[in-house]
Amino acid sequence: MVIHNTGCEGLDRDILASKGFHSIIERDGSLTILEAETETPYTLDTFSGPSRHILYEGSCEENDMSYKQYDALEVYVNYMILRYPKIKILGHYKIDWTECPSFDVDLWLDEIGVSNKNMYCS
Ligand SMILES: [Zn+2]
Repeated sequence: MVIHNTGCEGLDRDILASKGFHSIIERDGSLTILEAETETPYTLDTFSGPSRHILYEGSCEENDMSYKQYDALEVYVNYMILRYPKIKILGHYKIDWTECPSFDVDLWLDEIGVSNKNMYCS
């Protein structure tokens, strides 16, 4: 599962949905579904295989994620690990030359107690 933010990927939700992003965590922490999980996911040149892509609404230049967004993302990450126990979670920057998203995903995963087996090592 790849974590992105809207500032880096673009703000037009129709375009984001057509590119295969699945959901957005809004500033207030609510979740907007862009595309059903069964739809073809976003394709990255450097990464293949089944994947899920979640965005949070935020800036690409600085980490402006709200506490409610952190809480929602933590719930979402733990839900996905329950559902797919072998899932790997990573920030987009791990697999592409990008600043997306604008926080250290590995450090945060460690802080919230995600097991190393669910972290992606490039
Ligand atoms: Zn991204």
